[in-house]
Amino acid sequence: MDFRLSDEEEAFQTAVRRFGDRVLRAHERQIDAEGRIPDNVLAAMAELGLLAMPVPAEYGGMGASAVLTELASEEIGRGDFSMATAVFFLLEAGWGYLMSRYAPEATRKEVLPNVCAGKTFLGVATTEPSGGSDLAAMRTRSRRDGEDFVLRGEKSFVSGVEEAKRLGGGHLTLSKSDAGGFNFLYVPTRSDGVSTQRFTNMGRMGISTGGLTYEDARIPQRYLIGAEGKGFECAMEGFSVARTFVSAACIGAAERALETGMAYIRERTAFGQPLGKFEGIQFELADLWTQVEAVKWQCRRAAWLLDQYTLKGDVSHRSEVDRAVASVKLTAPPIAFECVKRVMMWFGAAGYTKEVGLELGFRGIMSYLVGAEGGLNIMRIILGRELLGKEFVPYK
Ligand SMILES: Cc1cc2nc3c(=O)[nH]c(=O)nc-3n(C[C@H](O)[C@H](O)[C@H](O)COP(=O)(O)OP(=O)(O)OC[C@H]3O[C@@H](n4cnc5c(N)ncnc54)[C@H](O)[C@@H]3O)c2cc1C
Repeated sequence: MDFRLSDEEEAFQTAVRRFGDRVLRAHERQIDAEGRIPDNVLAAMAELGLLAMPVPAEYGGMGASAVLTELASEEIGRGDFSMATAVFFLLEAGWGYLMSRYAPEATRKEVLPNVCAGKTFLGVATTEPSGGSDLAAMRTRSRRDGEDFVLRGEKSFVSGVEEAKRLGGGHLTLSKSDAGGFNFLYVPTRSDGVSTQRFTNMGRMGISTGGLTYEDARIPQRYLIGAEGKGFECAMEGFSVARTFVSAACIGAAERALETGMAYIRERTAFGQPLGKFEGIQFELADLWTQVEAVKWQCRRAAWLLDQYTLKGDVSHRSEVDRAVASVKLTAPPIAFECVKRVMMWFGAAGYTKEVGLELGFRGIMSYLVGAEGGLNIMRIILGRELLGKEFVPYK
């Protein structure tokens, strides 16, 4: 077993960290205040190859491994502490990968080069106003009509609705098929019959969240991702990939919080000595660092498993992959949130100010605790299913 990164991986990680330090940190306040990632930042990300990284070079990506994408995600979560850029990054990476694997060739060539160049947006739409966890109960329906699918229903809490409208692009959208099963369709947001609503979030303000309404929107057959009726399985594969990158971003944010905290407790004194000398604080740091380190390697292993199996189309280790991904998505957001919260407390009153900036992470990471890319209890349900067997899932 060799835990070292290759020279190429290390060089790329260094380059993305430099980008995070120089560009993302410099823009994170602006991103939060203006509610969008500036075009020059997206262009710089595209230039570095950071958009939809796992997409093969023939469709404009860099054909990156899940491990390399995971490393980049850590650095982006560390760089833009609000998490907005991390969300943009991981949606493109996860769902770009899925499209490159399951969309018809012509659609890959039509859509992906623009996504990789930062010219259009690609996201996912599964959640509905009636709920996001119980996807089998969704109400949005699709039916075949000649050369098209006709889509009717509503999605909500979807990331990137405004970006897809502004830049062009759309979402991989799950619906129940009238012919049985689920269809996963790429739905360009500017299609006739599609309208959007923007919601007001408490954090990660630089990427929009909103609703999408489909009123008999006609979606060409070439936008079907995977086989007709098999969209659910396809979407679950995309979630496995995206959840790994979400977790990586949380780990980067956790490390940023701890680094900020360490710098402070070395300098700030109370009762005649630096805060870092008090065991009450030093031991807390030791415990948090240990947990972050454990989750980081858990996450890199999940990415490694994706590379060994999922990204090669090998489903023989699906249970192992599902366990690895669900367990890291279960642990990374809470530990990141805990790091931010604890460090805020080390800062005392200053931690509660916008000047120190810890509140950016506090608001951003919370999205992954409440549910983005699947609620924590859903990760527990996946683990229960994989550890005990399908018959132990207490409902259909
Ligand atoms: C900022 C943000 C961005 C998002 N972006 C997207 C996106 O791009 N695309 C998209 O499709 N969705 C997106 N979502 C939605 C997200 O996927 C859902 O929030 C998530 O799936 C949970 O669905 P829900 O919010 O409807 O909660 P519900 O399904 O109503 O669940 C509510 C709570 O109950 C828990 N729960 C549910 N069932 C069980 C059970 N059986 N046992 C125990 N606990 C249970 C859940 O874990 C959750 O904590 C986003 C959410 C947020 C907050």
